[in-house]
Amino acid sequence: MLRKEELPGFDEECVLVKGISLESMPGLTESAVLYIQPCASVQGRVNCELRFGIPRRGAEESFFDFPALSRILNAYSDRFAETRVSSSLGVARVQWRGKKILIFKNGRIVIREAIDEEDAKATIDFLSKLLAPSIICDKCGQVLLNCAAASCRECAVEHASLSSLPSNLLWVGGLQRIRDLVKALIERSSFVKDVKREESITSVEYLSTQSDRIVHLILDLIAYSGNREELAVGILLLKRAWDLGLTLEVLDRIQRYKSKSN
Ligand SMILES: [Zn+2]
Ligand SMILES: [Zn+2]
Repeated sequence: MLRKEELPGFDEECVLVKGISLESMPGLTESAVLYIQPCASVQGRVNCELRFGIPRRGAEESFFDFPALSRILNAYSDRFAETRVSSSLGVARVQWRGKKILIFKNGRIVIREAIDEEDAKATIDFLSKLLAPSIICDKCGQVLLNCAAASCRECAVEHASLSSLPSNLLWVGGLQRIRDLVKALIERSSFVKDVKREESITSVEYLSTQSDRIVHLILDLIAYSGNREELAVGILLLKRAWDLGLTLEVLDRIQRYKSKSN
């Protein structure tokens, strides 16, 4: 669960710094911010319901940006037994490690068939980090993806620098793999210009597969980040990787257009 945590270079009113809160839910008793009860369908399991909000501001109708949330869940879908997102209804359904989870646009989360309270809380922690890039910041009104990349122009102080790069094993290994993949990508894209038409199309497919792998690695780093700095670096990397994916899409279109007109 994202509580307030220091983050040098960012405005303290940005949700990346002030974190998120648990809000009481309409229909339940006023004090029920986290509702855990025995599961009716599977004996010994528990169900849990909660609603995320913005500290000092409370519950919001649009807590998650659904296009961004849907993109994250789809890119990470091999980690879920089921992934279904309906952007028009503002609800997503995933199955993660035996739990059935509903995620609503307004920040409401329903977790069914968790092993115990601890398992439910670990799931909340995992989801609050994995989905953090799609949370709408109340400081600037944009997704945290833009705050972390300083492209909202409100949340990151000018010349924001991350004081130290994450140094734990997961990050060191993860960043090295991302570096290798990006390197391979750059080498292959300069190669694309010279090869024959048919080959260049497969190369673009290869490139987008590589960029999907990069996005997946970054989502791992985000979901298992140990502090706010790691999370912010992860979100910034995700923004850049998606920008790269967009560049590849444009490249692909140009190439297909060229091969048609030749
Ligand atoms: Zn922000
Ligand atoms: Zn912002």
